[in-house]
Amino acid sequence: MAATINLELLKRLCEAHGVAGREDSVRALVHEELEPLVDDISTDALGNLIGVRRGNGGPRVLIAGHLDEIGFLVKHIDADGFLRLQPVGGFDPSRLPAQRVIVHGFAGGRHRGSIGVAGKPIHLQTPGEVKPVTIDDLFVDIGLNGEQAHAQVEVGDMVTFDRTLETSGNYIMTKSLDDRVGVFIMLEALKALAGPVQAEVIAVATTQEEVGTRGAMTVAWSQAPDIAIALDITPAGDFPGAPPEFVAVKLGAGVALKIMDVTAISDYALNQRLRRIADAEGIPYQLEILGRGGTDAGVMQRSRGGVPVTALSVPVRYAHTPNETCSTNDIQAAIDLVARFLERAHLSA
Ligand SMILES: [Zn+2]
Repeated sequence: MAATINLELLKRLCEAHGVAGREDSVRALVHEELEPLVDDISTDALGNLIGVRRGNGGPRVLIAGHLDEIGFLVKHIDADGFLRLQPVGGFDPSRLPAQRVIVHGFAGGRHRGSIGVAGKPIHLQTPGEVKPVTIDDLFVDIGLNGEQAHAQVEVGDMVTFDRTLETSGNYIMTKSLDDRVGVFIMLEALKALAGPVQAEVIAVATTQEEVGTRGAMTVAWSQAPDIAIALDITPAGDFPGAPPEFVAVKLGAGVALKIMDVTAISDYALNQRLRRIADAEGIPYQLEILGRGGTDAGVMQRSRGGVPVTALSVPVRYAHTPNETCSTNDIQAAIDLVARFLERAHLSA
């Protein structure tokens, strides 16, 4: 059965646009949603949005989803008005040709464009001429000539995928599930709390995760939490050709509880507490070891004198493409587990 999550809010979050360092409009949207749920709200110098829900003598628990999405900046505009791209975050260039993007021009316009591949048109290539695409082969066509393009767009303008959120059965597909779904889980878990809790909850929407978890680094230092939990997505391995021994998590089997990734080994005792809560509450979860990549938990763990961390993730197919796909049931499981943990975070076991 499909979980009934607040799709309208998730849609607004995913359809907002903000790459690392340009999270302003996403942050404004999250600010509006977070403010009524916390006692204090502020933004730090790196743009992290920090909401504090006061507790009653319990531990300081930081939960964090990141605001930024993968995308690009314009790095060159040629004499004919074609744009070249600087990736902001990790891309597989083979997924990019023929995608539609939005160029957020400095002059205020939003220009729809398509990603093309420089070189001989594909239908004129012989089989021997077909080569793997690199980012340097790609350009964006926004339908403006050189003069018009230079009047509307400059080096450094943001470029994001042009995609809406759509549902199909239990599945959601959209750009930017990474990591608007983490921010969504943070907001919905706060709403799901059964009254006041003893823990002080520090709910943070972090910046610049996709370029090296930069926002989380400073916010973990300034907030000095006792426990920190990153809320993110993780690649699912349940599609044709994906080896299950490398990517074990799948859609619809529950929230992924991180054992380790490249940047952090989760606190064992904290994970065991989360598992006991999930078991007691009947919340489905999957154990996850990820051999590549990391989350905000990596830098939060190494802040000050060290912080026990873990990450709770929503399994996502086709991560870092415009068609990130997940299950509403896993989102619900994540919301439930975060809320039930916060209610019990003051208990020692
Ligand atoms: Zn992420």
